Amino acid sequence: MKTVGYAAYSSDAIMAPYHFERRALRANDVAIEILYSGVCHSDLHTVNGDWGPQPYPLVPGHEIIGRVLEVGPEVTHYKAGDHVGVGCMVDSCQECDQCHHHEEQYCRHGMTPTYGAPDRIDGEITQGGYSKHIVVREEFVLRIPGALDLSRAAPILCAGITTFSPLRTWNIGKGSRVGVIGLGGLGHMAVKLAVAMGAEVTVLSRSKKKEEEAKSIGALGILASTDEDAMAAAAASMDLIIDTVPVEHDVTPYTPLLDIDGTLVIVGQVGPMKEFMSVPMIMGRRRVAGSLIGGIKETQEVLDFCAEHDIHPICEIIRPDQINDAFEVMNKGDIAHRYVMDMSALSVED
Ligand SMILES: [Zn+2]
Ligand SMILES: [Zn+2]
Repeated sequence: MKTVGYAAYSSDAIMAPYHFERRALRANDVAIEILYSGVCHSDLHTVNGDWGPQPYPLVPGHEIIGRVLEVGPEVTHYKAGDHVGVGCMVDSCQECDQCHHHEEQYCRHGMTPTYGAPDRIDGEITQGGYSKHIVVREEFVLRIPGALDLSRAAPILCAGITTFSPLRTWNIGKGSRVGVIGLGGLGHMAVKLAVAMGAEVTVLSRSKKKEEEAKSIGALGILASTDEDAMAAAAASMDLIIDTVPVEHDVTPYTPLLDIDGTLVIVGQVGPMKEFMSVPMIMGRRRVAGSLIGGIKETQEVLDFCAEHDIHPICEIIRPDQINDAFEVMNKGDIAHRYVMDMSALSVED
């Protein structure tokens, strides 16, 4: 199938149109026309080469909302016309213990990311959602509930599941005390999801500049990490802290905020962290953990949860040809919303 997308041709991360082919349908494949594609900070990191050398040209994008065009003969869950999603993975071994208990993101043989990795069958490099079409095996296709606004659902597939999974892992519910560091794409979803689960949520940020914004999405307020008195007064007051900061930083100021047995879970920075102090960990059996997206079953759960609780990410819709401007804004720092590309502005004939 002929298609078109926006690709990076080198680590300068300048995106330009790219014409390429999607594979012919295998028996268990779903062919999807992409309607909306979210722009994730990790797209930028990847095309920049921050996480290692990449196979260029590379089409990023792993927050994909689309409509089924055609299905292979063995596909049972989807038919032409269905609204579907694709997140950060498109395949895994399907045979190991992790795959068997629905945690394909931790597949013992490595899951196949949506872009930049060899397909398990033909070895072709996967290309992501900044494109007009995608072909994905049925097991990695999500159903988009009718109650979700298609134009604002895409970021649930990465930002949503990345924060939903730790909230579930650490059993957040009514009365839980949750801290969220950072109020960007991941952070604002963490707040909305935790609030809908019944938690008391506090945003941790350098300043109280975004306090009104934090309150408007259900947080109690902002605890400014630069305010030493306020930080000391908040010691041992949180059960879980979700750390969404996407760059190298120090967790030491935050760990004393955890109650005994509390956990700070890192979901933003993938790479080196500043040295940290073990005292709060030892004195309170506190933990510093990490978490990677979530399994396919859990991704369906977060989509259904968002539909049920009327949760939508804060999105700014752009055209695909505005992607370089969006990257530039994202490079400058955190933005409290997600760019989502309306792919109807892209045509294979262009
Ligand atoms: Zn992402
Ligand atoms: Zn596996």
